[in-house]
Amino acid sequence: MSQQETDGRIGVDDEGFVVDTEDCEAREAAYRERGTSRPITVVGNPVLHKECKDVTEFDDELAKLIDDMFASQRTAEGVGLAANQIGVDLKVFVYDCPDDDGKRHVGVVCNPVLEELEPERRVLDDSNEGCLSVPTAYASLARPDYAVVRGQDAEGNPIRVRGTGYFARCLQHETDHLYGYLYIDRLSKRDRKDALRQMEEGTPRYETVPNA
Ligand SMILES: [Zn+2]
Repeated sequence: MSQQETDGRIGVDDEGFVVDTEDCEAREAAYRERGTSRPITVVGNPVLHKECKDVTEFDDELAKLIDDMFASQRTAEGVGLAANQIGVDLKVFVYDCPDDDGKRHVGVVCNPVLEELEPERRVLDDSNEGCLSVPTAYASLARPDYAVVRGQDAEGNPIRVRGTGYFARCLQHETDHLYGYLYIDRLSKRDRKDALRQMEEGTPRYETVPNA
């Protein structure tokens, strides 16, 4: 059986959203154990500061990239990882993240697009945010506490993913990455400077790609 056949069978709930809360442990382990962990790109690396290319081939090479992304995410202890964070210019992100209720979500989104929220659903949450590509820095950033992302799974099937709380933040953060934005780009000048100073002063617990 190919990887796609074992991994691709994620159902949808009665509202059409992908079910990404079942067998999280086993699904995450399967990806990660097939993959190879790669070093993480950091702020200043050009691959992080431009829009990535759309995924057009849903093939074994993409499946291998996703495996490596899960392996890298685990090594760096991240809750989400975009392909350009391991130096690959493609619109794919993976996640392993708890929501508002502490429920774990594991999945992959290709070619993500954030859906516009109804004004009444737009409630801002100003929790702390961090990024593997801005190691050791954190800053408070207001974002909607609910998010819906539209995209495709690893086989190219259309999917919609929704999240609350920290997972909503993750969906927005990872989608931003693939359009060339880091969370620090959404901070005030002063907070951005402070985050970069935190990064200068800290030492990441995982391997990073040195900037040229
Ligand atoms: Zn990030």
